[in-house]
Amino acid sequence: MVFASYPLSQFKSHRKEILESIKNTLDSGNYILGNQVSLFEKNFAKYCDAKYAVGVNSGTDAILLSLKALNIGPGDEVITVSHTALATLSAIISSGATPVIVDIEKTFFTMDPILIKKAISKRTKAIIPVHIYGQACNMKEIMKIANNNNIFVIEDCAQATGAEYNGKKIGSIGHIGAFSFYPTKNLGAIGDGGMVVTKNKKIANRIAQSRQFGWDDSRNTIEPGQSSRLDEIQAAILNVKLKYLSKDNNKRIRIANTYESLINNKFIELPKQRKNIKHVHHLYVVLAEHRDEFISRLKKDNIFCGIHYPVPGHLHGGYDKYCKIPNNNLPVTNYLASRVLTLPMYPELKLQEAKKISLKINNISF
Ligand SMILES: *Cc1c(COP(=O)(O)O)cnc(C)c1O
Repeated sequence: MVFASYPLSQFKSHRKEILESIKNTLDSGNYILGNQVSLFEKNFAKYCDAKYAVGVNSGTDAILLSLKALNIGPGDEVITVSHTALATLSAIISSGATPVIVDIEKTFFTMDPILIKKAISKRTKAIIPVHIYGQACNMKEIMKIANNNNIFVIEDCAQATGAEYNGKKIGSIGHIGAFSFYPTKNLGAIGDGGMVVTKNKKIANRIAQSRQFGWDDSRNTIEPGQSSRLDEIQAAILNVKLKYLSKDNNKRIRIANTYESLINNKFIELPKQRKNIKHVHHLYVVLAEHRDEFISRLKKDNIFCGIHYPVPGHLHGGYDKYCKIPNNNLPVTNYLASRVLTLPMYPELKLQEAKKISLKINNISF
């Protein structure tokens, strides 16, 4: 059986080292913000070429605490996309700000910079580009627009840990990078976890305080915060897995290359890759005509696909009334929701299996 993603296989391939690291942490008696968290923050900052990294308890909170650290809240607008995990919109709405949704580029599925300009208003405080499926957005254009308009950029890096844009690690390009270690992500914990990276010391300090009620090192406060720490045991697991991330991402790239070279079906459109980037293929998403048929036929062969995402965020029941859509029209986002099909993709997937999946797909006709 193969699945769209498969975190258990990742645990199994590093089982001994992970269990050893958990055991050492249990024996240390240090369970909150101990050595494992600070070591992971140090190593992760280095990995991303960022100056500071602050561990938090999820990717959603990484975005939420970033917005708060930039004083963004009620009355403010944040430009983002709706072709993303609900987490992106959830964090913006939790901050009290209004998500302003722009459409995506049909070629790469990422935020369309041309549409950002039209969406900027006096209330715009930040842009949150989402490096969807592991591919970097057009950061050059996005940063240019942001800098010209004095707007912050928070990169949603949840799906793209290790990805690069023009030779730079994503997360280190905008003012802040927000990461998730949800188990299926390229760098996955065995539970929840998240990280904020930045080159700005003030922002890093403010987030380090707000993840813990607003406490500073002497447990004094100047403003309230919340409880959103990165768990010590998750950090112990992540310290092990970070060592293998580059290798694992390269395995994902090889699987993507296999799909790319073998899949040939007139009802399937393969994803395209931007120039000058390193795509880390968090998800391998094709556009499929007759999607439901593809899913059920592959299922008969024990190949389980996914859909990311069947309903765009701005159309979700609890979310629609909070979103502002400048020209009331998101044709690419809406089109993709009906076509996107996620094929199996995880480092432990054998190339032989990817080949088999490709040939099965090629044999499906209508
Ligand atoms: C996973 C994800 C997040 C954050 O997820 P958490 O479950 O809160 O860690 C944010 N944005 C995107 C695009 C994601 O895929």
